[in-house]
Amino acid sequence: MLSDKDTYKDKGARRLLVKELREKGIVDEHVLQAIGKVPRHLFIHNDFRHHAYLDKAFPIGEGQTISQPYTVAYQTQLLHVEKGDCILEIGTGSGYQAAILIEMGAKLTSIERQEKLFVKTSSFFKKMGYHANLILGDGSNGSPENAPFDKIIVTAGAPKVPESLVNQLKIGGILIIPVGDNKTQTMHTLIKKTDGSIEDIAMDVFRFVPLIGNQAWQ
Ligand code: SAM
Repeated sequence: MLSDKDTYKDKGARRLLVKELREKGIVDEHVLQAIGKVPRHLFIHNDFRHHAYLDKAFPIGEGQTISQPYTVAYQTQLLHVEKGDCILEIGTGSGYQAAILIEMGAKLTSIERQEKLFVKTSSFFKKMGYHANLILGDGSNGSPENAPFDKIIVTAGAPKVPESLVNQLKIGGILIIPVGDNKTQTMHTLIKKTDGSIEDIAMDVFRFVPLIGNQAWQ
């Protein structure tokens, strides 16, 4: 069961989480503000409610997880979100990362391959008044009908960068994707240059659930 209250205690716990993320090196004030606003405890099962503002990943069903707040903040910071950015997220999951992007003013399309999570998050977003184009499908193919995108964020670990995602980026666009094996993945920032070439910057190491699909793990 999902809870629906946002109490003073929850708000206080969020403030402490923001402080912790700042201490861990997150510097983008817009990201920190969004983390301070989005009620993470409402995105997870009530059983975990009292742990919602620990910097930890939690199960959300179907063998999947809501990412650790630090990971969400880290990836979002790399995206350099600007109001009105057209953003594609691969791996909607609980919708928490999506809500952070919406809070920051993104026009969001988000794809989830697990039907149960897609249905649950779609109805939760309706209830919460979060507006996004939520799609059920294989995000490793991107979303050609909604492309091109200013930014793309992948929230599952890929064996390689799917070419379709690079193709669906605008010139000047940014793709953030964890790439590696089934144990650890390195976060990559890909930037599409004016001449269409790609700059690829490898960053820190993380551990994600696998990106499963046509241009990912089979
Ligand atoms: N962004 C999510 C959140 O805030 O809760 C994190 C979800 S979890 C770390 C990654 C998600 O990616 C899972 O829900 C999984 O089902 C989904 N996924 C894996 N492969 C996918 C694919 N090819 N297309 C769409 N979603 C995929």
